[in-house]
Amino acid sequence: MILVVIEHTGSALKSSTGELLAFAARLGQDFGMPIVAAILGSETTRVVEELQARNVDRILVVDDPALAEYSPEKYLHALKTIIETQKPSIVATAHSARGMDFMPRLSVVLRKPLVSGCVDYERIGDRIVFTRPIFNAKLNMKLEPREATPYLVTIMPGAFPADSVPASGTSETGKAIESIKVNFSGVSSRRRVIGQTETSAGKADLSSAAVIVSGGRGLKQKENFSLIFDLAKALNGAVGASRPVVDAEWLPREYQIGSSGQTVAPKLYIAVGISGAIQHLVGMSGSRCIVAINKDPEAPIFKVAHYGIVDDLFKVVPVLTKLIIDLKAK
Ligand SMILES: Cc1cc2nc3c(=O)[nH]c(=O)nc-3n(C[C@H](O)[C@H](O)[C@H](O)COP(=O)(O)OP(=O)(O)OC[C@H]3O[C@@H](n4cnc5c(N)ncnc54)[C@H](O)[C@@H]3O)c2cc1C
Repeated sequence: MILVVIEHTGSALKSSTGELLAFAARLGQDFGMPIVAAILGSETTRVVEELQARNVDRILVVDDPALAEYSPEKYLHALKTIIETQKPSIVATAHSARGMDFMPRLSVVLRKPLVSGCVDYERIGDRIVFTRPIFNAKLNMKLEPREATPYLVTIMPGAFPADSVPASGTSETGKAIESIKVNFSGVSSRRRVIGQTETSAGKADLSSAAVIVSGGRGLKQKENFSLIFDLAKALNGAVGASRPVVDAEWLPREYQIGSSGQTVAPKLYIAVGISGAIQHLVGMSGSRCIVAINKDPEAPIFKVAHYGIVDDLFKVVPVLTKLIIDLKAK
């Protein structure tokens, strides 16, 4: 079986859930394995209900006040209990800050291999070979775990598009929910959370945006970014940027897309004045439809673009924005 460790906010599933379940659905089909989701937290009723509508066969819930606040030690303790009893072949979670925090620890405790930042896999006979980017995504590495299962894997955002599987595939809603009792007494946390700050919603909410309009150094100066914001607004989309834009402080770091920024996979990605360096491509090439606007016909962005406009962005973008506004008004 495939055990997927689901991330949630306490009241809702995180957007990584869809991609995680898309990975699990493909793997489950390829290897004939059921998908079992694990929810860890306190007062989890709402997220469990939400998960019931998703493509999972069983849901394991560890609901305990001890898990009200994330603690790697308590996560490890709960997951170790689940893994020892359920004996999964694969344990997968999102390649998020939390996933990257507890999965390496779990790997050490269980002495099992971890593939972090998986972007693909292939089945070779009964074996599984994972792919993960290395050297700032300049190369892809193929890895075949050698030890006995379970294999641990974190799934890179954007690698397995959430809409590649139906919201509730083979499984039916109302699926089995099993409550797992874990004794947390004696498990202490080595750190204390002193506060949490959420990024203000809508500002650069790139992970769940269906449309992203991204600007690069071709915009020449900060003030010209209003062209990007106007186009994004017309399309009800979010704004992204290449690294030089962020380095020049035209926009805050949270807007950066690429190997040292966010990985995104929107339905539509419009790259404006972006050359398409590999470090940028790795963060957006999973987008469904890529449109590039660049005056240089040789720019590498055109190699991944589905549609390209070779022209001056200062001419093209205002016309495009007006066209979209006019179309919406009809
Ligand atoms: C360790 C490391 C990590 C990195 N991480 C990232 C990352 O996460 N994200 C990232 O984006 N980069 C990253 N980079 C930087 C990356 O290598 C590139 O330098 C960067 O992506 C280039 O940004 P750009 O395309 O905006 O600028 P440029 O490469 O300068 O491209 C500007 C483009 O605009 C076009 N242009 C100019 N004027 C116009 C106009 N008037 N109309 C139309 N087109 C025009 C040009 O033809 C050109 O193609 C990283 C680099 C390193 C070394």
